[in-house]
Amino acid sequence: MKFPLIYEIATKNAVKIDISSTLNEAIDLMYRYNHRNVIVVDKNKFFILTANDILKLKLKGYDFSIEISNIKLEILPTISKDANILDTMPFLEDSIEHICVVDDDGSLFGILTYTDIISHIDPESLMENYRLADLMNMNKNIQKISKDTSTTDALRNMADNDFDCVVVLKKDLPIGILTTKDIMDLIKRGPDLNLPVSDYMSSPVESLDENSTIKEAINFMKEKHFKRIIITNKNGEFTGLILQKELISLSYSRWAILMKQYSTELNEINTVLEQKNKRFEKMAFTDQLTGLYNRYKFTELFVSEYHTMAQRDNKMSLIMLDIDFFKKINDKYGHNIGDRVLLQMSNILLRHLRNVDIVGRWGGEEFLILLPTATLENATTLADKLRIAIQDFDMDEHLKVTASFGVTEVKIGDDIKSAVKRADDALYEAKNSGRNCVKAKVD
Ligand code: GH3
Ligand code: MG
Ligand code: MG
Repeated sequence: MKFPLIYEIATKNAVKIDISSTLNEAIDLMYRYNHRNVIVVDKNKFFILTANDILKLKLKGYDFSIEISNIKLEILPTISKDANILDTMPFLEDSIEHICVVDDDGSLFGILTYTDIISHIDPESLMENYRLADLMNMNKNIQKISKDTSTTDALRNMADNDFDCVVVLKKDLPIGILTTKDIMDLIKRGPDLNLPVSDYMSSPVESLDENSTIKEAINFMKEKHFKRIIITNKNGEFTGLILQKELISLSYSRWAILMKQYSTELNEINTVLEQKNKRFEKMAFTDQLTGLYNRYKFTELFVSEYHTMAQRDNKMSLIMLDIDFFKKINDKYGHNIGDRVLLQMSNILLRHLRNVDIVGRWGGEEFLILLPTATLENATTLADKLRIAIQDFDMDEHLKVTASFGVTEVKIGDDIKSAVKRADDALYEAKNSGRNCVKAKVD
C-alpha cells in the first residue's frame, strides 16, 4: 500500500484572494471560477470565505464593497506539502473540509480537500461490507424541504443550519437539490426569491439505493464528482443524505484499523525473524557442544584482532591446548562422559580468561585461545595457570584430566595458518616432553 505525499494529491491552483480585496471582488472571483469558496490570504495566514458566508452577509444586509478584512472568517489549518496523506488524519477527525498546503517558506502551495483525499484512498481497503443504510443514523439533520417552500425560506433554512444543500421533495420523492453553488448564481442574478424553490433547484437528482456499499458510494461520488449522495429506499423515497466527509472519516477509521493490524502483524514477523536470525547466527558461529567459537568465527576474529594489533603496534599471543590421552577417556567411560569433559574443559577456560580473550574449539579436543595485548611471557604464564586449573579440577566420575599447551606470539606478516602452525609445533613439543606442560615457540 502506498501513502502519497501531500504535494502529489493537493489541488495546486487554489482560487485565492488577498484579505485587502472587497467582498464584491471575492464574489466575482467565485462566480468566474464557479467555486463555492475562496481562500483569503493574509500573508502566511489563510482563511476561507464560503458561499454560505456570502449568503449570511447578504441576508444581514451587508455592503459588498467593504474589505474582506472586516469580516470574521474561519482560519484554515496548514500542512506542509512534503507531509504524508496519513498526517491529514487528525484534521479529518475535526471534520475540517479544507487544509492549506504550504511551501517551505509558508506561502500557499495549494489546497487539500476531502475530494483530494478520498480519491487517493486505496479502494480495496474501503468497507465493502458496510451499506449506506448502516450510516443513516449519522445524519442527524435531514436537510429536506417541500418543493413549494419559497426560495427565501429555503435559503434562510440553509443559512441558519449551516447546510451546504437542501433536498427538495415532492411527497417523499427527491426531485431536486439546492446547493451553495446555486446560491452564487442566485445572488449574482438577483431573481425573485419569493418564488418556490422548485423554480431554482437543480433537477433531476441522482440518488443511490441505501443498500449500496460504501465502496459503491465512493466510486459513485468519484465518477459523478459529487460531494454528497442522496439516498433512497427501494420505493425511491428519500431516506437521507451522506456527505463525502462522513464517508471518508469512516473509510479512514477502517483504513487505520487495517494499518494497525498490518503493523502488529509485521512486528510479530520481525520478532520471529530476529530470533531466528540470532539462532542461526549462533549456530553458524559457535560450536554446538561447548558453545565456544567455531573455527570459522575464530578465524574471523583472529583477522580483525590482527589488524588492531598491527595498527596499535602491540603484542598478541596464541595458545593451543590439547587434552592428554583423551581417547582413553572415551574408551574407558564412553563418549557421553567424553563430551562432558569437553564441556567442563571449556568452562574452566572461560572462567580463567578475560572478556577480551577469544576462545575457540579448533578440533576434537583441541582449543585455541587468542590473547590480544599479551606478550609471549604473559601468555605462557596464563597457559600454565590454565594447565594447573585443569589438572586440579575434579571432573565427572572424579576423573582427572590434564592438557598440553603450545604458546606463540603472533607476528606481523602472520596469518591464522602460520600462527597456528607455530602453536601446534610447540604443542607437539609439550606432548613429546611428557604432556601436562607448556611449551613456547618464538618463530
Ligand atoms: P594425546 O595426548 O596425544 O592428545 O592423546 P589423545 O588420545 O588425546 O589424542 P588422539 O588425537 O589420539 O585422540 C583424540 C580423541 O578425541 C579421538 C576422538 O574420538 C576424541 N574426540 C574428538 N572429538 C570428540 C567429541 O566431540 N566428543 C568426544 N567424546 N570425543 C571426541
Ligand atoms: Mg589429545
Ligand atoms: Mg588431538
